[in-house]
This record gives sequence, C-alpha cells and structure tokens, in this order.
Amino acid sequence: MSQSETSHSTNFLRAIVQQDIADNKNDGKVVTRFPPEPNGYLHIGHARSIWLNFGLAKEFGGECNLRFDDTNPEKESQEFIEAIKEDVTWLGYQWADEPKFASSYFDQLHEWAICLIKTGDAYVCDLSAEQASEYRGWATKPGKESPFRVRTVDENLSLFEKMTAGDFDEGHCVLRAKIDMSSPNMNLRDPILYRIRKITHHQTGDKWCIYPSYDFAHGQEDAIEGVTHSVCTLEFQAHRPLYEWLLARLPVPSQPRQYEFGRLNLNYTVTSKRKLKQLVDDQVVSGWDDPRMPTVAGMRRRGFTARAIERFCDMIPVSGKGNSDIDVAQLEHAIRDDLNEQAPRAMCVMDPLKVTITNMADAASGADEWVNAACHPNRPELGERELPFTSEIYIDRSDFTEDTSLSRKKFKRLVLGEWVRLRGAYIIQAHEVLKDEQGSPIEVLATLVPESLGENVEGIKPRGVIHWVSATKGVEAEVRLYDRLFNHPNPDGGDEDFMAHINPDSYKVISVMMEPSLVNAKPEQSFQFEREGYFVADRHDHTAERPVFNKTIGLRDVWGAKQ
Ligand code: ATP
Ligand code: MG
Repeated sequence: MSQSETSHSTNFLRAIVQQDIADNKNDGKVVTRFPPEPNGYLHIGHARSIWLNFGLAKEFGGECNLRFDDTNPEKESQEFIEAIKEDVTWLGYQWADEPKFASSYFDQLHEWAICLIKTGDAYVCDLSAEQASEYRGWATKPGKESPFRVRTVDENLSLFEKMTAGDFDEGHCVLRAKIDMSSPNMNLRDPILYRIRKITHHQTGDKWCIYPSYDFAHGQEDAIEGVTHSVCTLEFQAHRPLYEWLLARLPVPSQPRQYEFGRLNLNYTVTSKRKLKQLVDDQVVSGWDDPRMPTVAGMRRRGFTARAIERFCDMIPVSGKGNSDIDVAQLEHAIRDDLNEQAPRAMCVMDPLKVTITNMADAASGADEWVNAACHPNRPELGERELPFTSEIYIDRSDFTEDTSLSRKKFKRLVLGEWVRLRGAYIIQAHEVLKDEQGSPIEVLATLVPESLGENVEGIKPRGVIHWVSATKGVEAEVRLYDRLFNHPNPDGGDEDFMAHINPDSYKVISVMMEPSLVNAKPEQSFQFEREGYFVADRHDHTAERPVFNKTIGLRDVWGAKQ
C-alpha cells in the first residue's frame, strides 16, 4: 500500500500540489521541508509531518529539506540534532543535500531586519515584558501602541546595532515589526522579530547575542531555500498573515506559500517535547528511547517498524480543518498487521512449568531428537528452524490444569489425563502432577504418542496446540514487558497534571525459556512468539550470550475488531 494508493482522495495537500504542477507554478518544482527545533527527540506527531513533507516531495519528484529551526539556543543541543537525523533516516527518508540550519541564515536575517528598519517597518522597543503584554491587549481588546513606535529610522538603526553588539542586557529591548496594534489577529500586533539572549549557540558559538523569533525566521528560511509548499500544523494558521507580510516586504529570492494541516493526536499518549523531556528528566522512563515513549527512537526500540508507521500515516486523512484525534489502538493495529506479515515465528515459554516425558527412548541418556518447524505459516521462503525435542520440556503454567471439568471449548490446552499437541512436535498425554508444599504444580509427567509427529492419530483428539521449549536445550532469556505509559485516554487534557496519569504497571522484567535458535537473533529483529505476541531483540542489550527481548505488542487486535 503506497501513500498514493490510500490517501488519494483524503489528502487535500496532494490536490494543491498537483494543481500547482499543472499550472506550472514554481516552474513545476516541488520543494518542501521538515523543520524540527532540536530541543528534543522526534515523536509520532513529527513522524506524521515527516511522512507528509517527504512524501509529497517524493511523490511529485521534488525535494524535501531537513532544516533545524535552531533559534532558541538555550533549549537545543547537538545530541538532539544527531538523534533527529538518525530518526528521519530510520523512518526511510532522505533529505536533499546536507541538513540545513536556521542558524546558518543568521547573517541574512540580520540584514533583512535592517531592511525593515530602513523602510520604517520595524522599531526597537524598550517596554518590559510585562508592559508589552499589557499593551498587547487580548483577542477582544485592541492593543495600545508602544511609546517607542515613533522612534526614527536612524535611532532604530543605531539601537539595533547596539543590541547586536551586546551593549544591552537581556530583556532590555527587542526589535518589533510595526504592523497594527488593533488587528484582531494578535500575531500582527507588532510581533517580536529579534530578542537579546546572551547565550552560546550550539552552531554559531558566541557570534550572536540576539536571536530571531520563530516568525521572523521561518518564512525567510523557506524563501532562501526555495521552498514551494511550506506545510505546518494548524496552530500556525493565524501566523500566516505575518508570514506573508514579511515576505511581501523583504527582498527575498522566492515566495513560498504556507499551508496548514491537522496535528496528529493519539489517546493514552502525550506528544509534546516539553512533557516528554519531563518524563526523561524525572526518570519516569529510562531515556528518550525507552520503549514506552511515543518517540521515534522509543517506538523503534519497542519493535515498531518504519514500514508500519508509514502505513499508519497512510490510513489517516490529511485534513486542513481540524486535528486528527486517533485511537492509539489504530497505531497498534498497523504494527501488528506488519509484524504478522513479516515476523518469523518462534517459541518462548514465559512462565515455565516442567513436563517430563516418561516414554522417550532417550529419557535416561538425555540424548535428543530434532523436529522442524516452519518459520512462518504462509511464507515458505522464510524456511524452517530445528527445535530440540527432549524428554524434559517446559510449557507455560497457564497451559496446564488438573480441572477435568473444563469444557474442550473453554480450555484448549493440557488437562490432567488428556491429550494436547505440542506445536510442531508430538501429541502428549498428562498422567501425573508433582506439587510443592504449597500445592502448586512443579512438574507434570506425561507420555508422548510416538506416531503423532506431524500426524493425526486415530482415536486421539488433542484439546488444542500449545507451545513448548526444551528444558535442557532451551535458552534462558530476559523479557521486558511493556504496557501503555498512561492509564488515562487524555493524559494532558484535564485539570490534573499529566504525571498523575502514569500507569504504574507499564514495565516488568521476567525470565523466560526460549527455543535455542533465538540466540542467533540480531538486535532489532522481530519475532512472533507463538500465542504470546510480538517481541524484538533489544537494540542495545541483546547478545547471543544474554538474550534480551522487548515485548512489542500482544496478539489481540482491539482496533481491527472494532472496524
Ligand atoms: P512539540 O509541541 O512536540 O514541541 P513542535 O511543533 O514544537 O512540537 P517542532 O520541532 O517545531 O516541534 O516540529 C517540527 C514540525 O513537526 C513542525 O512543522 C510541526 O508542525 C510538526 N509537528 C509537531 N507535532 C506534530 C503533530 N502532533 N502532528 C503533526 N505534525 C506535528
Ligand atoms: Mg515548535
């Protein structure tokens, strides 16, 4: 399923781009950009924006820039820049040329600020932050003009030069556009263009002590890069008049256009870098790539695939009217769908109960037999694996009961006195159960039906098929079980702090027994552990000597079932 097949009629931006090409606008060229601020790791909402911006460029033979919108040095870092590059690449996208930086345009932006001063469209304002906010008014109350609005061009030029030279303290003054203090659009009430920040920048060092605002930087950066379609989220709609006001007044090399689409919001999830950072800083999670995080790095470590994230984005219409509030179960559905298709099968016993098979020829010697099992039920090209079948095996504790009153329909597993098939191997019958002092089963004694390897046997009807692992040839491993990080559908929507909705049971580590072929798993390789769910070999911690798997997701599809 490609983007073009699925979202043809539901992506209004495709239609706009298509029309522009038909009209030979911008000489038929399409240039988009993804402009993250490097103040955190990318999350699922960014993945959506990446899918859209890179997707449009790719579909229409254009280019997409990766541009770091690094105008706020105090919150940004090189670590975040590197992480963002890695995540975009992992998602499967390729930016045009080298990554771009807003900071590499600071000289040009500064020159353009001077242009605006010279045309009388900008002035240096000394109102304090509190005064400025009072002067601004609010939506239904017009603002008041700053007394500094009447400064002459020369005065402004000289003050701006002093700002640039570091002669003033932070907060002493700002450069503002001179637009309209009574505009119903708050963004046009003499917005800030430059502010003083005496702080070292991760790219430009100490060269600057004034930094452009988002609004002054963004459209001009687009123009410098020849961006044709500047796609951003709906909250920037009210900024568009300012975007256009600036482009109309400056000698920019091109005239980009801004388009807005609805943000992706997921229930049971927060997607704000500030909040995600708090989870990391407060050590609620182990880091930005904790498998419970909705970050690209977290989803990757959890075992989500880039292909599944892309398919998920394909499913959601691109709207220019409202945000997309999506059930996280839909994302999980996309992951499950992809893994069901791709992931090889394997067996892993989560809560081992020993079964001793008393009629195996090798029982005393410990010699064993090998059985073969397909790696995937409908993808023969994935081949088979060998499973050691030994007289001592493990099954899951929940797959055995002494309760013979349970109906065959209700309990399709091993019941004392009855038969069950071991996946890919024999039918066994349970005869006796050994217990500890508390009365819990510690071992089941069983016999196998010798002619049942891969065959039905007349007169024997096993209740079902269960998974198993050799007790002597199986491998012990660590499995990390993850659940949703929040137990509230809208963790940051109510009056309460989002931290109040952390699910205390979102992480658990258990020790399991797995089939030995899994020691060959490569980090980041996914499997379906039969009857248990999808698991991935941990990207950082998994080794052949010490296998570590993360649970990606269970088998039951809540969203698919609802459709
Ligand atoms: P956050 O609120 O998480 O900090 P942001 O919008 O401030 O997000 P940026 O780094 O500025 O983060 O975002 C880069 C791009 O990603 C922007 O164009 C932004 O509109 C887009 N984006 C961010 N969050 C979402 C989302 N939830 N859905 C779609 N696009 C998003
Ligand atoms: Mg932002």
